[in-house]
Amino acid sequence: MDSFSLKPWTVVFDHEDWVQLNDHLFPGDGEEHGAVLACGVVDDGGVRRLLVREVHVARDGIEYVPGQTGYRALTPEFVVRCAARCSGEGLAYLAVHNHDGTDSVAFSRTDLASHERGYPALLDITEGGPVGALVVARNAVAGDIWEAQGRATVAETLVLGANRTRLLPRPGPTPAAASPQHHRQTLLFGHDGQALLASLRVGVVGLGGAGSLLSQALVHLGVGELVLVDDDTVEESNLSRIVGSCYTDIGRSKVLVAKNFAHSIRADVRVQAHEHSVMDASTAASLGACDAIFLAADSMQARHVVNAICNQYLVPGFQVGAKVSSDKDGHITDAFAVGRVIGPSGICMWCRNLILREQLALEALSPALRRQARYVEEVPAPAVITMNMMSTAFALNDFLFRFTGLHEADNLQPRRYHFLTRAPVVEASGTSPRTCLECAGRKAFGSRKRLPVAQR
Ligand SMILES: [Zn+2]
Ligand SMILES: [Zn+2]
Repeated sequence: MDSFSLKPWTVVFDHEDWVQLNDHLFPGDGEEHGAVLACGVVDDGGVRRLLVREVHVARDGIEYVPGQTGYRALTPEFVVRCAARCSGEGLAYLAVHNHDGTDSVAFSRTDLASHERGYPALLDITEGGPVGALVVARNAVAGDIWEAQGRATVAETLVLGANRTRLLPRPGPTPAAASPQHHRQTLLFGHDGQALLASLRVGVVGLGGAGSLLSQALVHLGVGELVLVDDDTVEESNLSRIVGSCYTDIGRSKVLVAKNFAHSIRADVRVQAHEHSVMDASTAASLGACDAIFLAADSMQARHVVNAICNQYLVPGFQVGAKVSSDKDGHITDAFAVGRVIGPSGICMWCRNLILREQLALEALSPALRRQARYVEEVPAPAVITMNMMSTAFALNDFLFRFTGLHEADNLQPRRYHFLTRAPVVEASGTSPRTCLECAGRKAFGSRKRLPVAQR
């Protein structure tokens, strides 16, 4: 197999793994070093991603040694051990080594010859792989990925930190000038930034007050494709908050109202309208193929599923919310808006106790059982468009500055604004226990693990 006939892959790292790999490859000695990555896989035909779950560094002189044909190589024992680990976990195997250079990198002929000798057998051991290799320079990554059906390159490598950085095998072409519509914002993040936004597929879960603001802003910004998810219809009481809705929309699907509004702003935006709950398995899978997901739904089920997707598919998530609390006499004691980054380099809503277990269990019951189980009748929560605007502004700015690489902050802690006291609050980000099944447990498994969605 010498032709790269299959669609290229994208490799995705969370920031911590990327730093660990780079510390190993570039300790400052100018030498070559090696490692193996165990990766989850997303391959839905259109989107092909290898998601880094584990980094296994090869110890110099023990597991990465002078080679018989190449300069240095992983020992057969190390390769077999890592391949067995990948195969046992249902993960893809990627060998990594480094080359000199900064903005361009490519395999040597010796590298490629060793792939041709080794990877057919490795494909058998791992039962179809994919298997392959990355070669990493300071600011560039190239790849050679083998599958049962053929061979493919790695078009881009993403690192999800406070900024989402993109590494290519060599500098890409200069992007075309953005449309006049986006002239003023390209003065901030350039034609590169605008081209990036146009290439993104962004999910919005919940198209109520907050979700409608998110969808509207994403279209104005020039995002290429939206995946809108909501199984609800517009009610009269929604008209105070759903931007783009009017009286004639009462009774219509919220996602279709949002889709029409999106097209009235920009005719070329692509919209996938899912008139389903996020608990629907194929809807959840569509979100796994997004570049970012905004969570603007109140239910614990939506939090649970989206939190799982962000961790399992390494998709940056942005949760928005607004809450009003009152004392037993009905006096308002607090009103705040919050924006939280979830998933890679963000928080896990599960180990931060933002997914209330009892309510989650209640939501899983049938409507009749739920009525029986509920002691207090649920009353509608207060909701005001201005509070939604605050939370969505937090989330949209985090998304925009992260994706266009403008953040100087090194973390993405959740932020709140308390309306009564006018006090801004940064929630501590904390660390997640390695034992959490929802973040550590699901991390980067991709489509090879089941999501917590409804059974078919
Ligand atoms: Zn090499
Ligand atoms: Zn967790």
